Amino acid sequence: MSQVAVQQHLIDPEICIRCNTCEATCPIGAITHDDRNYVVKADVCNACMACVPPCPTGAIDNWRAVPAGEAYPVEAQLAWDALPPLLAPEQLAGDPVSPAQEEQGIPVRVDPGVVERQEPETSSFSAPVPPWSAAHPYTNLYRAGNPTQATVAGNFRVTEAGMQSDTHHIVLDFGRMPFPVLEGQSIGILPAGRDAGGRPHHARQYSIASPRNGERPGYNNVSLTVKRVTTDHRGSPVLGVCSNYLCDLQVGDRVDVVGPFGSSFLMPNHPGSNIVMICTGTGSAPMRAMTEWRRRMHKSGRFQGGKLVLFFGARSARELPYFGPLMNLPRDFIDVNLAFSRTPGEPRRYVQDAIRDREVDLVPLLADPDTFIYVCGLRSMEEGVILALRDVAERGGLDWAGLAAAWRREGRLHLETY
Ligand code: FAD
Repeated sequence: MSQVAVQQHLIDPEICIRCNTCEATCPIGAITHDDRNYVVKADVCNACMACVPPCPTGAIDNWRAVPAGEAYPVEAQLAWDALPPLLAPEQLAGDPVSPAQEEQGIPVRVDPGVVERQEPETSSFSAPVPPWSAAHPYTNLYRAGNPTQATVAGNFRVTEAGMQSDTHHIVLDFGRMPFPVLEGQSIGILPAGRDAGGRPHHARQYSIASPRNGERPGYNNVSLTVKRVTTDHRGSPVLGVCSNYLCDLQVGDRVDVVGPFGSSFLMPNHPGSNIVMICTGTGSAPMRAMTEWRRRMHKSGRFQGGKLVLFFGARSARELPYFGPLMNLPRDFIDVNLAFSRTPGEPRRYVQDAIRDREVDLVPLLADPDTFIYVCGLRSMEEGVILALRDVAERGGLDWAGLAAAWRREGRLHLETY
């Protein structure tokens, strides 16, 4: 029997922005990472494709024909700065992948006489597609190998001084360089300097907090909401590379930027569409962008949107980014529900508690095919929010399984947690 070639699933380290989406999505633990690269374990990956649609950059969608038994090991992939060159046919001992499969980019393992393609995993609740009325996004205009530069036009704190959470509103101006964005997209920042291994830092991703026509309307700028990371997820002291770099920037500084990223977490644009926004902390950034775009559209008098409902969680009011401006928005424009988990003398309240409290008003909204739901913030909020939505739907007599499937199919539920 002749030897076989296999299509090995690889992640392009030049494009990958280390957002962890692929590792979190993979249903069988085939993806791992160190502090530099995300890589695929060839002996575990079954090419189910669950990780491919959620990847914001497309770095995940890379395949290389290699001789069977000679797949690139994890240790080799972790050391890569770029994907290895394609192997020549003579280097592929045995049957190469069929040209038709190669042409179609079909992710298959090629066994003698057998070509398998598995269907994508559907366990995730987040929709891989945008709302039908979303505007078309530009993505990956700039990559780590060819970043563009932005100038810092503003950098100020949006959480009260003295509070544990130090969050900054940072405005980046692209001057004459094209950087078209939509609400819900993110950009990658390449922090200056090098890591412990002497290599340039990899990019970190930040949601855009401003609407499509600029933080200041008509200007070629975007804003970010950045929380200074001073403790890791376990609470141990750490100095986050990029968040501290960004929060310390001065007006006039130049920053290397890649992106834009994201083609599904986008807002609906048709009249009458409702938007339910659920966020914690800096997860408010895309919600601020969507809210501000709706506000500008309403002000123009040419657009009549549906309801805007916000569930926003933070430790306390003083640690809630943009608290002042948010509370100034008219109540008939946006329905604001706050949940604070560390207000002295008060019981801890999370966004899922606020969602359950509004059950009566939410049921008709959830049932409405013109409702679009966005969840953004800490990864730990995801499960609680989904369970709260499920409880509200079921108590309201809605078919949860059918609803969740429709939300995913129709681009109506989007989760972005980190
Ligand atoms: P690193 O040097 O990368 O990490 C230092 C240590 O801190 C590591 O141990 C790491 O595990 C831990 N750590 C990383 N992030 C956090 C965190 N958030 N809290 C506690 N510990 C952490 N961040 C924002 O501030 N605003 C945004 O709008 C935003 N949007 C994002 C959108 C997407 C799609 C994704 C994937 C991430 C987003 N992030 C956002 C997170 C951001 O990309 C960085 O991960 C974060 O700023 C930490 O980077 P760092 O370089 O400072 O820390």
